[in-house]
Amino acid sequence: MNLLIALMLSFGSLFLLVSLIPVARIINHPGAKDIVNYWRLLTVLICLFLCGYLAYAWFHWWTYRGPVDLIVPTIFFFGAVFVLLVTVLTLKTTQALQRTFQLERDSIMDSLLGIYNRSYLDRRLPEQFSSAKRYGHDLSVLMIDIDHFKSVNDNWGHQIGDQVLQNVTRMIKNRVRETDILCRYGGEELFILLPHTGGSEAMTKAEMIRTEIETGADCPQVLTVSIGVAAVSNQVGSAPDLVWQADMALYRAKNGGRNRCEFYSPPVS
Ligand code: GH3
Ligand code: MG
Ligand code: MG
Repeated sequence: MNLLIALMLSFGSLFLLVSLIPVARIINHPGAKDIVNYWRLLTVLICLFLCGYLAYAWFHWWTYRGPVDLIVPTIFFFGAVFVLLVTVLTLKTTQALQRTFQLERDSIMDSLLGIYNRSYLDRRLPEQFSSAKRYGHDLSVLMIDIDHFKSVNDNWGHQIGDQVLQNVTRMIKNRVRETDILCRYGGEELFILLPHTGGSEAMTKAEMIRTEIETGADCPQVLTVSIGVAAVSNQVGSAPDLVWQADMALYRAKNGGRNRCEFYSPPVS
């Protein structure tokens, strides 16, 4: 029995010691920043427990007198198993959550431009549209297309083309509010959802973006954008209709000579 008690106390102490490894990894995990002090407190508690185990072992080494002497070492042993299991499982759960979060993020972000991708837009636009219709809020959209972007690639190579695209995206990002949703619609086309923004305000923003890019884009050749603007109104029945209107307005901006913003207006018959 003395041997059994010695084993339980030794393994108990070992398990407590080992449980400090997952705790240290959790403390260093970026996801645990806000609660790092609680984990530090747990580290101190585990160390105190460890001291208790060693003190108990010191005073009760090879002093077995009857089954009652088994109770405390048994509690110590399973207590240590419990602590080790909880810390390992917490670490594994933290890592799994981090992976899921990363996957979720990757699935909605464009890796080159660091903004939302098309599938995110396809998810958010109908939501925003329904909410605008139901509650009578304004909602506008901007479809932005870089003019003659193919010539940037042809003249300076695709790497420079990528950098120009990133630079233009950064400039636009600085111009949108936190509640606006900036996405890469495709290729060199960007799309902005402007909740609680009416048509004239959206046109002002579009014009601001257009001017800023014309005068300040970091590109080895003149760079301009054309922008199609549309807003929710009684005539717009669905989210795809709104996109279609922005697309038509963009088409008009291109046909009108590029480097301009156009608000959708129905064709005169
Ligand atoms: P327009 O004024 O009519 O819009 O002319 P454009 O040259 O911009 O339009 P076009 O559709 O002919 O060409 C778009 C170009 O954008 C072609 C494509 O290679 C380039 N492009 C699309 N995505 C990327 C990208 O991620 N990186 C780079 N470097 N180029 C891209
Ligand atoms: Mg295009
Ligand atoms: Mg283009």
